[in-house]
Order: sequence, then C-alpha cells, then structure tokens
Amino acid sequence: MNNKLPNLFVAFDFDNLEVARVLLTKLKNAGCGIKIGKEMFTAFGPAWITEVVDQGFPVFLDLKYHDIPNTVAKACLVAGRLGVQIINVHASGGYAMMHAAQEAVSTLASPPLLIAVTVLTSMTPEDLKAIGFIDSINIQVQRLALLTQKAGLGGVVCSAEEAQELRRLCGPNFKLITPGIRLTAEKTDDQHRIMTPESALKAGSDILVIGRPITQATDPLAVVREIYTRML
Ligand code: C5P
Repeated sequence: MNNKLPNLFVAFDFDNLEVARVLLTKLKNAGCGIKIGKEMFTAFGPAWITEVVDQGFPVFLDLKYHDIPNTVAKACLVAGRLGVQIINVHASGGYAMMHAAQEAVSTLASPPLLIAVTVLTSMTPEDLKAIGFIDSINIQVQRLALLTQKAGLGGVVCSAEEAQELRRLCGPNFKLITPGIRLTAEKTDDQHRIMTPESALKAGSDILVIGRPITQATDPLAVVREIYTRML
C-alpha cells in the first residue's frame, strides 16, 4: 500500500475537459492529489485518468463500486492498473465483496489504498429506515467501518464529525478520508455538516477531499497553499 499519499485531494467535479486541464496545470506543483468521480469518469473515461496520472498527480478514483464480489474485484483490479492511488467500494456490498476486492488489488505491484463508503452523508435516518436499516446512522457507520477493517481494507470515507469515534474504534493505521471541508463557516454550498481543514485533522482525519473552495476560487493554487499552511 502507498504510504506517501498527500493529505489533500482536490475533487474535480467538471463536465468540461478543457476547464479541468487548465486547473490541473495550475495545481502542477501544489503537492495535492486529484479525486475523479463518476461524472468525469463517465464523460471522459480511463484516458482522462491516465492523463492525470501521467502528469504526476496521485489520483483517487471515486467510483464507489457495489456489485457481486467477482465483478467488484475485477473492476478494482483494472482500476488499480490505471495507476491510481485510492479506489473505493460501498461497505454495504458486504464482507465477501470487500475481501475479494482487497485480494485483487493486493496482487498489483503497487496496490492502491482500497477504502469503503459506510453510509452516504446524504442519507437521513428516515432514508436508512426505508431501506430496512433499523439502527441509527452512527451505529451503522461504526458497524460498516469495522466490517471494512475486518475485510482487510485500508480505511473509510467519513464525515469529520465521525472521525474521532472511528479513530478510537479502528486504531491509528486505518485511514479516514473526509469530504465536507470548508475554509470558513460562511460558505457551505450544499454541504450540511462542515469542518475547517485544521479541525478535521484534529478530529482524526488523514486525508481531506476538497472541491469547490479550491476549484471555484480565482486563485486555486493560493487556496491549496493556504490549506497546507493551516494543516501544519
Ligand atoms: O465541492 P465539495 O468540497 O463539496 O466536494 C466534495 C467532494 O466529495 C465531492 O466530489 C463529493 O461528491 C464528495 N463527497 C462528499 N460527501 C461524501 C462523499 C463524497 O461530499 N460523503
């Protein structure tokens, strides 16, 4: 597993390749990684991933796989072959699915960090009940984080508010990857529960995923530098 991951990944949520390329050039020496999700991957495919990897950026391929074990294991294997540093699956796919995925990526010469999503932060307690989960969100997050760890994966995506409890539960080596970060409390966009970079790290997060505060800034490189300064 790659131990030298940057502790900041910039979420590239673009539908325009040229806009993304301009920002990539601006971030060339910033020391951050790039998170590419379903929108860009669906529009621009593996060629775009390879382009970002070839420019020297660590890539978090955020496709949240959830399928039968064989299918997810094979998808994770080919994703790993693209040279990305982080891949994720849904923990609710179960132990066998996660274990098969981890076994598959472990065969690679440089295995990516495989992490899982526990409960999507967009889910309300009512949403969980409607799909048959009777426990609270916190209990479900903790259960799935422990299952992720048991399956041999390296960490989970979690909100900064969950980080402290998950750190206590899963120990110091389990990676906690945290979106929902804002530099000030004023600008939340559509994120409901936000934390600043410094408070998220203090709560136990290892890697921050930050999108719009960087991608929509007039000087994105300056914002990345400010974030790094604040995380010292
Ligand atoms: O622009 P913003 O900083 O809100 O972007 C956060 C990124 O993290 C987006 O790509 C979003 O899809 C992703 N994400 C999230 N909450 C989760 C999981 C992923 O905001 N629970």
